Amino acid sequence: MTLSSKLSDPRLFRQYAYVDGKWTHGEGGREEAVFDPATGEALGHIPWLEAHQITAAVDAAEAAFVHWRALRADERCERLLAWYDLLQAHREDLATLMTLEQGKPLPDARGEVEYGASFVRWFAEEGKRTFGQTIPSPIPNASLGTIKEPVGIAALITPWNFPLAMITRKAAAAMAAGCTVIVKPAGETPFSALALAELAERAGIPAGVFNVVLGDPPEVSRILCGEDRVKALSFTGSTRVGRLLLEQCANTVKRVSLELGGNAPFIVGPDMDPREAAFAAVAAKFQTAGQDCLAADRILVHESIHDEFVAHFAERMAALTVGNGLEGEIDLGPLIHRQAVEKAAAIVDDALSKGATLVAGDQSQAPGENFFMPVLLTGVTHDMKIWHEESFAPVAGITAYANDDQVIEMANDTEYGLAAYIYTHDIRRIWKIMRALEFGMVSVNSVKMTGPPVPFGGVKHSGLGREGGVTGIDEYLETKYYCLGALGSVSGS
Ligand code: NAD
Repeated sequence: MTLSSKLSDPRLFRQYAYVDGKWTHGEGGREEAVFDPATGEALGHIPWLEAHQITAAVDAAEAAFVHWRALRADERCERLLAWYDLLQAHREDLATLMTLEQGKPLPDARGEVEYGASFVRWFAEEGKRTFGQTIPSPIPNASLGTIKEPVGIAALITPWNFPLAMITRKAAAAMAAGCTVIVKPAGETPFSALALAELAERAGIPAGVFNVVLGDPPEVSRILCGEDRVKALSFTGSTRVGRLLLEQCANTVKRVSLELGGNAPFIVGPDMDPREAAFAAVAAKFQTAGQDCLAADRILVHESIHDEFVAHFAERMAALTVGNGLEGEIDLGPLIHRQAVEKAAAIVDDALSKGATLVAGDQSQAPGENFFMPVLLTGVTHDMKIWHEESFAPVAGITAYANDDQVIEMANDTEYGLAAYIYTHDIRRIWKIMRALEFGMVSVNSVKMTGPPVPFGGVKHSGLGREGGVTGIDEYLETKYYCLGALGSVSGS
């Protein structure tokens, strides 16, 4: 059965790039297959654009910027709301596409469509609130103030783990601000991005405002980062690639926003019910099969409840179902590809060779070659890879700690600083730990922490800038200061 036959609207499945409102072939003839990670079957092909075609996308975005920025904010809002309505109307197809190319269970894919669409609605409205300021003037006979203006063309480079929401969280903010965008999705998950383009066109977003380019990632980013006409780069992905792109943007002094890796600590205080905390930790660890920048990568449990916590965690983990995300009640889909499975296995082997204990995790039960069964390790220590690297896999590592100062030091012992979790009901402990954590986001007694009103982002090597919230649109705005001298002030009168 072909992919389009699984959709109620087959035109959402596109195997072209989308530039200047046109579905575009690669002129060099190179194509890449896109695979269903659950079955290994090829879902379709995408063209790799030639260098001059990427430049043509910049030409299109430049031409469209003139008209798009000139629209009133409420006019841009109407178009974005029309896009939002179409995302909602087609959510089942969008979720199916996402599960097929990314592997996440269908209910999670539906949740991501909802989450991704919510940013379009949020920023459609925020675009009407890009207020400037009036400044009390220290200069005689002058009026001072600021106005906000769109930066220009924004290049948006996105990862495969959230193929739709990582695009809308950027694109809706940029477009609401009056910018035009060039999206470069991950090669593993281009079809969600192309479905977004199809729906943007139907929503009346003009040609050249929302473009999707496809191609060799280093080549495409070299062109976009090196282009002086591209004024902003927003990237979500690994810290390794983020550093590379930051360097590439130096020559053209671009505005750069980076949402990079995470290595979240999940701290459990001695006052917690071990069962309640363990169930929460399982939810925070295994979402998207662990391929989540918010995944609870280092679970730090007070020594007084450690053993009970481990028993409850193991029990809950054993109940997780692993399989094809399109079929039945599945908790964990496949990992994105074979290399991810190999990396997960290597991280487990490294931990075991350095003294960790394997509590559970039997890979002989994996239902296919891209699947990795959940693993629980205890006795995880600082010298293990799992402590420092994002496993991006369903591998949970638990470490016991003795007191608050020790757990703060352990939690901060990472180059990353995206998100952290604390589970305790002791208000003094919450305040002390929350303030001491070197992370951009801290969630207390809650696994869920995200949504459109939230300033999402990290510190240290987890990134630059914030997405969402009331500040997310600022990544795409320049502040223009003006000083209006009164008539006659030029001559000094
Ligand atoms: P990745 O860095 O490998 O790829 C991200 C994007 O960069 C893709 O579009 C890819 O094609 C492109 N890319 C890859 N190599 C490149 C190169 N050499 N030059 C230019 N572009 C290149 O990341 P990934 O594996 O797709 O995604 C997983 C990473 O994303 C994890 O580190 C995760 O924590 C991070 N992430 C962060 C957030 C956040 O909001 N902070 C959200 C989701 C994912």
